[in-house]
Amino acid sequence: MIEEKNRIIDNFGRPHTYLRISLTDRCNLRCFYCMPEDGIELMEKSNIMTLEEIIALARTFRDLGVDTIRLTGGEPLVRKNFGYLVEELAKLGVTLKITTNGITLDKYLDLFKKIGLRKINISLDTLDKAKSVFITKRDYFDRIMKNIETALEMGMEVKLNIVLIKGVNDNEINDFIALTKYKNLTVKFIEFMPFKGNKWDWSKGVSEQEILDTVSKRFGKVEALKNPKHSTSTNFTVKGHIGNFAVVSTITNPFCADCNRIRVTADGKMMNCLFANSETDLLTPFRNGEQMDNIIINGIKTKKFSRDGMDVKMDADHYEKNRSMISIGG
Ligand code: SAM
Ligand code: SF4
Repeated sequence: MIEEKNRIIDNFGRPHTYLRISLTDRCNLRCFYCMPEDGIELMEKSNIMTLEEIIALARTFRDLGVDTIRLTGGEPLVRKNFGYLVEELAKLGVTLKITTNGITLDKYLDLFKKIGLRKINISLDTLDKAKSVFITKRDYFDRIMKNIETALEMGMEVKLNIVLIKGVNDNEINDFIALTKYKNLTVKFIEFMPFKGNKWDWSKGVSEQEILDTVSKRFGKVEALKNPKHSTSTNFTVKGHIGNFAVVSTITNPFCADCNRIRVTADGKMMNCLFANSETDLLTPFRNGEQMDNIIINGIKTKKFSRDGMDVKMDADHYEKNRSMISIGG
């Protein structure tokens, strides 16, 4: 049992037990809502955490009460020696999860099965190949679809992440819901969020209410499911469907009150919130051999209650100072 004083607890009394680690700011796709049109200034290699540093920092977080680690990116599967890393992280005894674009997932599914990594979120914004090329600026649709099928056949818990953008993929909401009739997966609709350089404008976003209205118009009443503690999505199902659907309503109905998430970027900065524009440097003190516990425990004390202080509305003066999503990792 970890003593209270050795846990990561913010000033609102929220224990932080869920860590997202970004393994890289590189990606093999260029989704327009994530990667700025002009690209990003990539991190210097020497500033990126080595695999051993990631493992050691993850162990420190585990010892401070973190019980779940989600690997993300950029695209986590493009990180060199990813297989070694994930096997080592599995030894920490935490629940491991991953968010990926699915392009090279086939290379790792056997390994995931072996080490007990079953929860896989895969970004798939459209069921239409041509549209996928438009959104991602690359042509990997068939590979991703095949890998989703394989993951399901292997008994993985698959969630499809769909960022809904008006006039782009909002006409596909019910096509995604139709998938859940026979496929045991969750389709997770995500409200479009603002980050540096992604030309956010909420008039392009689709709200939770609009999603629910669209689904019930076609499928009738939707059933609300019990949301797990600390859930960042609201969960639903359509009667008779074996799969579920979920909505991440960060913009219209934020779920911050019960937040237990903490993030570490590929260059070793701790972010208390997806929208944080201040960070705690972990990598420099770690490389200097400093004791990390107090740096992490004190770092969480600057966490704001909701959306890094954008409680009422998303404020461009704030989010344009943030990182681009591709270098945070969701
Ligand atoms: N490359 C991996 C992937 O695409 O799943 C992991 C990193 S990606 C940044 C993590 C998640 O963030 C993806 O599900 C993606 O759809 C989501 N995302 C990126 N930009 C977003 C935005 N502007 N609003 C909402 N979600 C976004
Ligand atoms: Fe790459 Fe994922 Fe961002 Fe798409 S959403 S550009 S796949 S990091």
